[in-house]
Amino acid sequence: MVRRFLFSQGFRYRLHDKKLKGKPDIVLSKYKTVIFIHGCFWHGHEGCRYFVVPKTRSEWWVDKINTNKSKDKVAFKELTDKGWKVLTIWECELKQKALKDTFGRLLQNLIDNEEIANS
Ligand SMILES: [Zn+2]
Repeated sequence: MVRRFLFSQGFRYRLHDKKLKGKPDIVLSKYKTVIFIHGCFWHGHEGCRYFVVPKTRSEWWVDKINTNKSKDKVAFKELTDKGWKVLTIWECELKQKALKDTFGRLLQNLIDNEEIANS
């Protein structure tokens, strides 16, 4: 969905770049921007209604999700240290109702990042 949107807006990108920490879903080199699209459950979206820890084996789930979150944090830090702008789009932000806002924000971010990248 995000890919289609970006493409329709004339953005060009690479996918799942293995050379970059955390293998970002979308890489927009020209904008020095990477995008991660995260599932609210697996990446533990705080305060999100799609992030509910199952009642059985809770500890196991929490552990697993925390591992994902710390991996995300490490990747985020390494990428920002290297000068990348890191955007995270959550699954819940791609629900029909939220989509317009999400894409609006994404466009604005990319425009801002392009200015920074070229200054
Ligand atoms: Zn969410």
